[in-house]
Amino acid sequence: MYSSTITEYEGNKNRKLVQAITKNGRNSILNQPPKHMPAEQPLIWQNIIGIAVLHVAMIYLFATRFREAKFWTWIWCILHLFTCGVGITAGLHRLWAHRSYSAKLPLRILLVSLYCMAGQICPSKWLRIHRVHHRYTDTCADPHNSHRGFFFSHIGWLMMKHHPAVKEYGKNVDMSDIAADPVIRFVDKYHPLIMVPLCFVLPAVIPVYAWNESWDISISSVIVRYVLSLNFTFSVNSFAHLWGNRPYNRTLKSTENPVVSFFAIGEGWHNYHHCFPWDYKAAELGFYRLNLTTAFIDFMAWLGWAYDLKTPNAKLVDRLCANEGDGTRGRINIPEISDVQ
Ligand SMILES: [Zn+2]
Ligand SMILES: [Zn+2]
Repeated sequence: MYSSTITEYEGNKNRKLVQAITKNGRNSILNQPPKHMPAEQPLIWQNIIGIAVLHVAMIYLFATRFREAKFWTWIWCILHLFTCGVGITAGLHRLWAHRSYSAKLPLRILLVSLYCMAGQICPSKWLRIHRVHHRYTDTCADPHNSHRGFFFSHIGWLMMKHHPAVKEYGKNVDMSDIAADPVIRFVDKYHPLIMVPLCFVLPAVIPVYAWNESWDISISSVIVRYVLSLNFTFSVNSFAHLWGNRPYNRTLKSTENPVVSFFAIGEGWHNYHHCFPWDYKAAELGFYRLNLTTAFIDFMAWLGWAYDLKTPNAKLVDRLCANEGDGTRGRINIPEISDVQ
């Protein structure tokens, strides 16, 4: 029975996650950096130009070419968008960054391949950034500190060198499990050779040969899909740290944001996730509410490829909500811009 692989935890006390995320344990939790600390962050012009060109091209190509795409090109794009998303959410995020479940080798290979389809940075860099984000959330040592506003936390942080505190405090984050993972090591080593065909070449070639799409529309669809996919990921760092409810811990900036959850296939339940980053569901509520990633992991557990699924005991969640929450548990509110904190 696949459900027998789910373990409910009373708390964090015997969680290896703490070890996985920080070498210094509780001592360094007391040693949090400030929210703001002025520092030089030189701009990275190639990123600024690259990001600007990609976004302008995406809007232009969507308006002029992509609208004429064949039905199957649209389906292909949407499928690719959400499939590569699973590599990020179930793979890099819930499996490797948080160790919220374990996976057999075939699943790890599948997930890292799906991740490469998204065309993001090499896996170990992604994982480091995310662990530092959790370890020093919304401080100057957080790579995408949301105290610096929407633009910085969404995409601006990629346009400049990290704040010096990110590097300094980031040394406390233990990455030894990642360095020892042969799947991650292999993909790190050959990242461009794996990523470029999966993210750009094959998705452009297949529509042309499979259903006679024109080259210009097929290439346009790749660019549109790529930019959308990046923005869906970025939205977790920006929208889900600025707009939404805080039913689990009102002192955190991260929020429950159903719109982000839809586009990021379950990663928008972010107030919960920052309270229980080791929960494989990354959300409390059942029926896969806007959480396709959890359905995917459950299916893999049923297949026997995923196991040791971790989730907190319900009483632990109740206690946290009662003591720390903002009283909005269980409500789905579509966040409004005026809710900005
Ligand atoms: Zn976050
Ligand atoms: Zn996380």
